[in-house]
Amino acid sequence: MNREPIIGIDLGTTNSCAAIVDGDVNGVPQVKLIPYKGGDYTIPSIYAVDDKGNELIGYEAKRQWQLNPRNTIYGAKRLVGRTMSSDIVEQMRKTVQYQVRPSEDNKEVVIDVAKKSLSLQDVSARILNKIRDVASNHLKVAVNKAVVTVPAYFSDRQRQSVKDAGKLVGLEVVRIINEPTSAALAYGVGRHLKKTVVIYDLGGGTFDVSIIEIRDQVFEVKATGGDIFLGGIDFDNAMIVHILKEFKAKTGIDLSTDPVAMQRIKDLAERTKMDLSTREEAPFNIPFITMTAQGQPLNIEMKFTRKLLEQLTVDLVDRTLKIVAKVLVDSGLSTQAIEEVMLVGGQTRMPIVQERLTKFFGKAPSKSVHPDEAVAIGAALYAHSLSDDTNLKLQLLDVIPMAIGLEKADGGFHQVFPRNSSIPNAKQIRGTTSQANQTELIMRIYQGDHDAAKENEQLGEFTFSGIRPAPAGQEQIEITFDVNVEGILTMMAKDPASGKQLKTTVRVTQS
Ligand code: AMP
Repeated sequence: MNREPIIGIDLGTTNSCAAIVDGDVNGVPQVKLIPYKGGDYTIPSIYAVDDKGNELIGYEAKRQWQLNPRNTIYGAKRLVGRTMSSDIVEQMRKTVQYQVRPSEDNKEVVIDVAKKSLSLQDVSARILNKIRDVASNHLKVAVNKAVVTVPAYFSDRQRQSVKDAGKLVGLEVVRIINEPTSAALAYGVGRHLKKTVVIYDLGGGTFDVSIIEIRDQVFEVKATGGDIFLGGIDFDNAMIVHILKEFKAKTGIDLSTDPVAMQRIKDLAERTKMDLSTREEAPFNIPFITMTAQGQPLNIEMKFTRKLLEQLTVDLVDRTLKIVAKVLVDSGLSTQAIEEVMLVGGQTRMPIVQERLTKFFGKAPSKSVHPDEAVAIGAALYAHSLSDDTNLKLQLLDVIPMAIGLEKADGGFHQVFPRNSSIPNAKQIRGTTSQANQTELIMRIYQGDHDAAKENEQLGEFTFSGIRPAPAGQEQIEITFDVNVEGILTMMAKDPASGKQLKTTVRVTQS
């Protein structure tokens, strides 16, 4: 084993998984998943603080979440890199039992848990730390480096946030790669393929789809799309809304304000949803969920059929297919050109998802990769390709999921990189002053596909200073936008006449 191991981590919304390459057989690297206590390969991405102030992560946190819903944080990945004003944060606030609030400066999202106030990076950092500890214990060597996967649809800011989370616990995130690209590596490495595949990745909290051309060790993403607010949790929520409605119609009692009842419902809803992937119907019974005003205990006694679940979630499945259709158009390919459709993410076990994809592509999806493990396996393979003692030289040619550009004077959005631009990528634009003796130029940079800049996510406000005082419009500055292989943007500016670099400061602002 390499002296300085680099592990692959799939930091999932609901579950995380880690893997490492351990030797090779006939030149094909062998990946081992890192087992957690009891031999499971996934760790719930859940963080909690118990009533004694102890921090619990993973199964320990999940085991107690019904009884301690206010201090148990799950699904936090959806909030990573988000500002408080984002609609997504507002929506999350309504569905989670823990406290989400703006930070003092009103910019970041803070979660109050027990007596602690944590940023989203703190929560991700603690989960990453736990995975690292499990790996270090298992491998009996300190692990300080990892390749970490993120949804393809993560913005620049969310990617940066995951890197920073690693830094907080001394884990160097040597490279961020996209989850679907990582799954394609798990499928393709060592098989000498020449094939165009679709990776349909519907996990706990996010949906991604990528069309990838595999040419042996080259993995070229043709187009990608997704929705980081569409995943298994939304299927659970659709069931919960139905259960609450039925219970209220029957008893007049609204359970949505009772966190313990809500957590019990949430728990059983998810388990029932999973059961319905293999059964046509399942009972939904919870004893003593609440009491009447007279102190009589009340139970939930219902039945769920697969049909009902499908009716409640048809909109969600439709949304994924709309995105698939758009990505296909973006790639310039026809459904016939797709040679294999790969399923990733636990929610793809739902039969209707597979049926709808079969109809869409005219062929049944392949089961060649393990839906829960492929992403971590791909990350481990990529990590291995970065080490010195390997012949594996992987080339990932990825794209940015949403356009990156700047705000125009009229509030419009000037796209510097359209969506699906290949990365790494750099572009230069020329700017000039609009007033006499102006020594600073301010630029607001956004990411998104909307024509109005403000409708997109603001990545930051860049100030370039040190411009020579001169009449308006005389001084030119050359601004370089550089998006690295991880989809992270840096900007710099220089005076083209002197070649001198201008000082650049970034203010991460609220979107
Ligand atoms: P992942 O993020 O890939 O671990 O996906 C987890 C999501 O998949 C959760 O929302 C689970 O409820 C969901 N899931 C796992 N197994 C099944 C199943 N058999 N049927 C439907 N959904 C499932």
